[in-house]
Amino acid sequence: MRPQSTTETSPLQWGETFRDGSRRMVGNDQLRANLRNATETIRSKRDARAAETQNWEELRHAGAAIKRYSLDHLADLLEELEANVTANGGIVHWARDAHEANAIAYDIVARHQVDEVVKVKSMATQEIGLNEYFADRGIQAVETDLAELIVQLGNDHPSHVVVPAIHRNRSEVRDIFTDNFEDGNRPSSDDPRELTMRARTHLREKFLNAKVAISGANSMIADTGALSVYESEGNGRMCLTLPEVLISIVGIEKVIPTWQDAEVFTELLPRSATGEPMNPYTSWWTGVTPGDGPQEFHLILLDNGRTTVLADPLGRDALACIRCGACMNICPVYRMVGGHAYNSVYPGPIGAILTPQLLGAFEDGDPSATLPFASTLCGACYDVCPVKIDIPSILVELRRRSVESGAGSGSGWGTAMKASSEVMRSGRRLGAAEALLPLGRAVADKEGRITQLPWPVSSWTKSRDVPSPPTESFRRWMSRREKAER
Ligand code: SF4
Repeated sequence: MRPQSTTETSPLQWGETFRDGSRRMVGNDQLRANLRNATETIRSKRDARAAETQNWEELRHAGAAIKRYSLDHLADLLEELEANVTANGGIVHWARDAHEANAIAYDIVARHQVDEVVKVKSMATQEIGLNEYFADRGIQAVETDLAELIVQLGNDHPSHVVVPAIHRNRSEVRDIFTDNFEDGNRPSSDDPRELTMRARTHLREKFLNAKVAISGANSMIADTGALSVYESEGNGRMCLTLPEVLISIVGIEKVIPTWQDAEVFTELLPRSATGEPMNPYTSWWTGVTPGDGPQEFHLILLDNGRTTVLADPLGRDALACIRCGACMNICPVYRMVGGHAYNSVYPGPIGAILTPQLLGAFEDGDPSATLPFASTLCGACYDVCPVKIDIPSILVELRRRSVESGAGSGSGWGTAMKASSEVMRSGRRLGAAEALLPLGRAVADKEGRITQLPWPVSSWTKSRDVPSPPTESFRRWMSRREKAER
């Protein structure tokens, strides 16, 4: 069942903390099996593509450099982009937040007097809750990406930025199609080919009747005013070419300077996202052309917290993300609980650093402020990221801010952390604490594990074991050694 967003201003995040969300998801064996199969397949394909690309590290380096340059020159590049989109016959709008972006898009659609629009898969429109905004005003926004369609018809939330229905298996998809498709188009089996053909028939009618389409973009080129969508099915291209009106809602961080820069992402993105050497469909469009494609093109440039993130010297690196999803596929936490546990449009390691920053959520009691704690800090996300975002360092910094704001101060965990920091701050107190080490060894089991400790440390041992303390502490070993050397 689709969870509800808690605030009117932030469809980006909803209600629960990661802790509650993960508790709910981790008990779902079917979900875990679906996730394991899908992420393992994508990961091995991605690893094979990276290994066979001789200049993979140079490409990553180039991708990282282009994104950092673009973020450093964002204002200039956006002005250049606006001038070129306008010169090509497009209309540029600037939206400070979700409400403004939705209102601009709705005004355009209302002027064309339609009650249905088709959509290309887009994270930006999820971030602003466009479908729900339109539905409240009597307009149905139809997702045309197959996985997004499954999620939409199942009244569900996407679980992954590239593979939104990663948590569903084919029999679940068959049931969703059976419940939603018209007579004569209901699937008779869960054969993937049949399911795809049924979805195709359902969508074909939507494409042919749609007057307005809504998309995001993978990148925007400042020096030409061109926008791109990379996809696997061709449904996005139908939306981009058949309707009379195209509205693209794009985060401002998607701008890059030149066509040549786009070459790098054409190599990096499909390899990192789906393990393909190239996207089957890469569409580019530049303004409007009489008699060819949409005759009215609107570009809505979305801020929605991005300029605040940009002002942060460390955290701004999150804006370099190209939404490939590779960090999710490798993350041991994501792979165990899936995207719904994060309770945010952006799940996984990138979501854990992007969502709290976009929302400015560092305060105690804010569910988004807990997201940076949803990580083992193993560093795998950094190793796999095609644009070298140092996610672990940003996680640690956001944790620091959260702790400084007093997050968790009333909990057992907060009390335990406070107590241990007091002990470690003083050599004398640490020495006194070492006197308790033999007691720790006494309560350890035969394998050298302590599985149960009293409150407040019980909040740790409830889910993890503590190793038995060594027979000699480091400080004692050091002082013995120093004495021997004298
Ligand atoms: S943070 Fe890196 S690996 Fe994760 S989605 Fe973004 S670009 Fe991909």
